[in-house]
Amino acid sequence: MKYLIIADIHSNLEAFQAVLDDVRLNHGGFDRVWCLGDVVGYGPDPSACIKLLRELKHICVCGNHDLAAVGKLDIEDFNSNAAMANLWTAEQLSEDEKEFLRILPESVVEDEFTIVHGSPRMPVWEYITSAFSAAANFKHFKTRYCLVGHTHVPCYFKQDEILVEEGYLEEEETLELGETRLMINPGGVGQPRDRDPRASYAVYDSEKKMISHYRISYDIGVTQEKMEELGLPRFLSSRLGWGV
Ligand code: ZN
Repeated sequence: MKYLIIADIHSNLEAFQAVLDDVRLNHGGFDRVWCLGDVVGYGPDPSACIKLLRELKHICVCGNHDLAAVGKLDIEDFNSNAAMANLWTAEQLSEDEKEFLRILPESVVEDEFTIVHGSPRMPVWEYITSAFSAAANFKHFKTRYCLVGHTHVPCYFKQDEILVEEGYLEEEETLELGETRLMINPGGVGQPRDRDPRASYAVYDSEKKMISHYRISYDIGVTQEKMEELGLPRFLSSRLGWGV
């Protein structure tokens, strides 16, 4: 089985579509999608992104933006740009789309993986940004591997006997899955924050026991124009071009 691992689509249809095209055309396709949350928030196409995800065989956990869009999280916990985009997102969604988001689980176990948005300890909110925060989280999941999103930065954390080793996931880098426990972040599809504006994602091949990381460029200008026309905060469209 091949699993497409995506996180933080953030209502960016162009980036989402580019990822699907790239994995199908250049990396052997996939059988199922594992989506690590934040399907909506920030970008201009929340409904279209939900629709596209639902057309695929998928598992999805909830992110903080997904919950805020349906009133399950307090918008006051967001910065002003994120809150503004979130209020706008909530207005766009149909009842059916809201229900889809409302019932997303916080965490799912599939194969040898625990799948969450933020961290296994605090699935919705915690950012795993360092070996230090990763180390505290290894005891909060029982599977050998854990997939996280939320930071929009592709990386991995390996649990060695004493230390946790961390690494940035380079383009085309492959992680071989063995005995070592790992936490892996595929990076962000719709709003990367590692100074590389290209969409970021990963593919898990369960037969080869490998996770490969890929980047693909998309037409950022199209997404930015939509955001401008809709009156979404200028900073949110600019940052797509910077990859921050
Ligand atoms: Zn996010």
